[in-house]
Amino acid sequence: MNVYDSDRMADVLTPLGYVATAVPDDADMVILNTCHIREKAAEKLFSELGRLRNIKERRLEDGIATVIAVAGCVAQAEGAEIIKRAPYVDIVLGPQTYHRLPEMVARASRAAAGQQETKGILDIEFPDEPKFDHLPEVTAKGFSAFLSVQEGCDKFCTFCVVPYTRGAEFSRPFDDVINEARTVAAGGVREITLLGQNVNAYHGETIKGKSGSEAGLGELIRQLAEIEGISRLRYTTSHPIDMADDLIAAHGNVATLMPFLHLPIQSGSDRILSRMNRHHRIDDYRRVVDKLLAVRPDMKLSSDFIVGFPGESDEDFEATMNLAREFQFVQAYSFKYSPRPGTPGAVMQDQIPEALQSERLAALQEILEQNQINFNQQCVDSVVPVLFDRQGRKDGQLVGRTPYMQPVHVQAPQEMFGQIAEVKLTSAHANSLGGELILAAHQSSPMSEIEKVSA
Ligand code: SAH
Ligand code: SF4
Repeated sequence: MNVYDSDRMADVLTPLGYVATAVPDDADMVILNTCHIREKAAEKLFSELGRLRNIKERRLEDGIATVIAVAGCVAQAEGAEIIKRAPYVDIVLGPQTYHRLPEMVARASRAAAGQQETKGILDIEFPDEPKFDHLPEVTAKGFSAFLSVQEGCDKFCTFCVVPYTRGAEFSRPFDDVINEARTVAAGGVREITLLGQNVNAYHGETIKGKSGSEAGLGELIRQLAEIEGISRLRYTTSHPIDMADDLIAAHGNVATLMPFLHLPIQSGSDRILSRMNRHHRIDDYRRVVDKLLAVRPDMKLSSDFIVGFPGESDEDFEATMNLAREFQFVQAYSFKYSPRPGTPGAVMQDQIPEALQSERLAALQEILEQNQINFNQQCVDSVVPVLFDRQGRKDGQLVGRTPYMQPVHVQAPQEMFGQIAEVKLTSAHANSLGGELILAAHQSSPMSEIEKVSA
């Protein structure tokens, strides 16, 4: 979501004449878009700010001003503390106020030019009106796009900071999402990943402004699937308790919805899931997976795990190891529990020592990595549709993604860039695959047809 937010901030700033640069020394403004989900995010921020301060001072010696802004969830959580610790920061803004950037930049620029005194501009409000209503039209970049449909969370898992930094759950109206999808599709995007902290809690108004006229993610996906040019749909991140039957049904009958789902489980122990306030048990999760497989037998899952949550016993951890063996996720993210200030987990008794967390993480990751390698190896010799969305490092090479998000390196002509083509997978590595092009997609044929053939 931060990638999406950063792109939208760029969209907001384009009319002011800003263009992106990869070189901080060239930048008239630097925005650090931060994440607060785990670990020393604030420390990382301040060390990065120290580096930017040097650049700002160097440029000032040449008479050039630099605006430094801190955005995102660390900004939301730390607020004025950032300006206090780093007074050279001009703007601190939260994830819900970046549509107001132009106004903040104007004020900061006036201050930099000495026309106005400032001690730093702080805007970490949760405005009543959603930012989406004030953002300019999105600009399509590349062939695969993120599209935020839902933000915030009301679930309050005891480890998680999201409900505090992103605020209450909010769903964008159907038409706004459809219009944004049409715009990026017209700009050449082939694949859309719908985003939300709790994306499957989505319940958008089907008639904007008319509360009560709501429908869920399954219906939204069915409507998005009708948009010409969109050949692949994905969504992330989902909560197991919001896997409604209608959404599961969409996996069975929307060909462009990819057979791959990120569905975080966090722990294999019901006792820990309850302490985490997850509102589901392992059996509930198992039932969701069974239902998905019933409508889409080639469905594969990825997941998130937290090890060393307060009170996690050897038996609880063993249950997590067994779960990883049982579900054989084809990809997984796993983390040591990181106490987040202000969350219930941070003040629970029985915090697990870091050394034990590390030991458990290493043991779990061994299983998770092996599952991933096994799946990659099973894929060898199969033919899959690949969306080429990156240039390869080698001459004449393109990199694309399979329906399961595996990167594939293929020798392919430049015309295939941005296309979906059938690829025979020939080699497997831990994090990627090698393949050969077997069928060049005909320019005028609808890409979704190729998807359907393989589905
Ligand atoms: N909304 C999603 C997850 C959002 S956060 C869900 O409900 O599953 C992304 C992932 O970060 C989580 O799935 C969790 O595994 C991890 N995470 C969140 N807070 C954490 C913390 N305090 N310590 C360690 N990992 C954490
Ligand atoms: Fe955080 Fe996800 Fe739990 Fe919400 S459901 S509190 S975003 S982990």
